[in-house]
Amino acid sequence: MEVEVIKASAEAITRAAQLLRDGELVAFPTETVYGLGGDATSETAVARIFAAKGRPRFNPLIVHAPGLAEAEPLAQFDERARRAAHRFWPGPLTLVLPRQTDSGLSLLASAGLDTIALRAPAHPVAQQLLRAAGIPVAAPSANRSGRISPTMAAHVAAEFGSGVALILNGGTCPVGLESTILDLTGCVPVLLRPGGISLEELMAVFGDIAMPTPGEKTPRAPGSLPSHYAPNLPVRLDAKAARPGEALLAFGPDAPPGFAEVAWLSRTGDLTEAAANLFAALRQLDRPEFSAIAVMPIPERGLGRAINDRLRRAAAPRPS
Ligand code: AMP
Ligand code: MG
Repeated sequence: MEVEVIKASAEAITRAAQLLRDGELVAFPTETVYGLGGDATSETAVARIFAAKGRPRFNPLIVHAPGLAEAEPLAQFDERARRAAHRFWPGPLTLVLPRQTDSGLSLLASAGLDTIALRAPAHPVAQQLLRAAGIPVAAPSANRSGRISPTMAAHVAAEFGSGVALILNGGTCPVGLESTILDLTGCVPVLLRPGGISLEELMAVFGDIAMPTPGEKTPRAPGSLPSHYAPNLPVRLDAKAARPGEALLAFGPDAPPGFAEVAWLSRTGDLTEAAANLFAALRQLDRPEFSAIAVMPIPERGLGRAINDRLRRAAAPRPS
């Protein structure tokens, strides 16, 4: 099925904002590339983004707000982060900051990390859409996983089917390159991804900027960081029967008996629902009264691949 593409008139933007509030996905232009947006406070909307992109794993997404005032309740902005926002927002700079505990942001949006990537895009259509929606919008580039980032509405239309409600056509993206990602969670700012704001511009404001360790493309990728949420309990995959004291992460209608507690990813076996529940369910079961978290088999297709990728990381032997 073809996705509707409409010119980003005021009327179309109002409609797109309502779709976002209703948990639907809308593709929209930013100054960098087209984004595939969904309500960043809704686990389901964020799960739909991963499903539409066909991402084999849960990478953390960039959350978009119109400006610093709207972004501030979402993350802990220190003096340095405020300075960055005042200087470069709205614009192609993404800041990685500690999540605010009561931010209301989806856990899936930051793939279980306790940090969040935030950006205020400068494109007038993105600005109007974010203001009209009144919610933070998670938006990775609007391409299928592994494909080239889209800089025109037609690129987006060629990639997506019924999973996307609407594509706002705002012409060609002026920067055409992803945002620069700057990690401000440590003492020295770390350039996680070069992009629309140059290193020189950043150094003029921050002085010293560190580079990620060579060979490590995404040092903050889920699973590679101590601050990353991994359950305290051991995780046992492919569980078909209970062992003493275990809690069960269940998928589908037929949970085996005998577990101390059960949290459902999806009772009906729906993978989008399972993705939406994954991080909250892991947290719910991660309690010292249980011996381990047992996980029922999850099919290795669609979002199941990303769910299994995440669970395999959670179950991997840990450095002690
Ligand atoms: P895209 O949405 O396709 O532009 O890609 C988003 C980029 O932001 C990915 O490279 C992510 O790894 C990065 N990112 C998003 N959130 C975080 C975070 N909390 N910490 C570090 N990197 C992040
Ligand atoms: Mg991308």
